[in-house]
Amino acid sequence: MTTDVMIELIGVQKSFGNLMVLKDITLNVKRGDVVALIGPSGSGKSTLLRSVNLLTTPEKGVIRVGSQTIDFSTAKSLPGDKALAAFRARTGMVFQSFNLFPHMSVEQNVMEGPVTVLKMPKAEAKALAHDLLAKVGLADKATAHPESLSGGQKQRVAIARALAMKPEVMLFDEATSALDPELVGEVLSVIRSLAAEGMTMLLVTHEMAFARDVADRVIFMRDGSVVEEGEARQVIGSPKEPATQAFLAHFH
Ligand code: ADP
Ligand code: MG
Repeated sequence: MTTDVMIELIGVQKSFGNLMVLKDITLNVKRGDVVALIGPSGSGKSTLLRSVNLLTTPEKGVIRVGSQTIDFSTAKSLPGDKALAAFRARTGMVFQSFNLFPHMSVEQNVMEGPVTVLKMPKAEAKALAHDLLAKVGLADKATAHPESLSGGQKQRVAIARALAMKPEVMLFDEATSALDPELVGEVLSVIRSLAAEGMTMLLVTHEMAFARDVADRVIFMRDGSVVEEGEARQVIGSPKEPATQAFLAHFH
């Protein structure tokens, strides 16, 4: 275990009934790296991200985020609720659907986690929210309600909200897939700026040009297994495996 690895999965397995969705997944993400997870629909990408965030529980394997490790192979070693909450707090997750709280203003959406979970004083949480909204280019939308925002603006609020919990790593599951094409760029540019600041990120994306340009490494999954992984330009530009070649051919 090296400290420059921020996310590590070893032999992770997850089944739904008889369907094994993650088959012996081993991978890691180094501190400050951006790793893009690509692959066909149903290959297990979301289940993998959800496992790192403990939204789903693997039946086997080890997952480490930062300094905290959970071994799912031995039920006895599963931590209690408090340790699980601490583990989950290490990751910020952004979904395809923005899931903002509709009855709260933009700034309240961003303040909610820090105030209720981190017990941050309201004034401090508000200042933090304003800093983060400025960072995602929405300083002028603090008092707006989600319904008045475009999809791209909503997703940028969702990113600010995740960052407000001061996660060690960020997970993005098709963060731009629900957006109209003209709104994709503004969200990708926020992700790009997080990458430039050194945020460790694991992201599922269908934006191959973005993965090639922003990711350090790309992992191609199919049928619950990692088929190919490597430097982003190599995997996207000259994939070695026939399955990766066939998948990428759809994007040309
Ligand atoms: P991807 O994100 O790559 O499209 P998913 O991780 O969402 O893939 O799904 C992988 C497989 O697991 C699919 O066959 C999907 O139908 C199945 N699956 C995902 N979540 C569940 C669930 N909660 N219950 C049963 N099957 C599921
Ligand atoms: Mg998915």
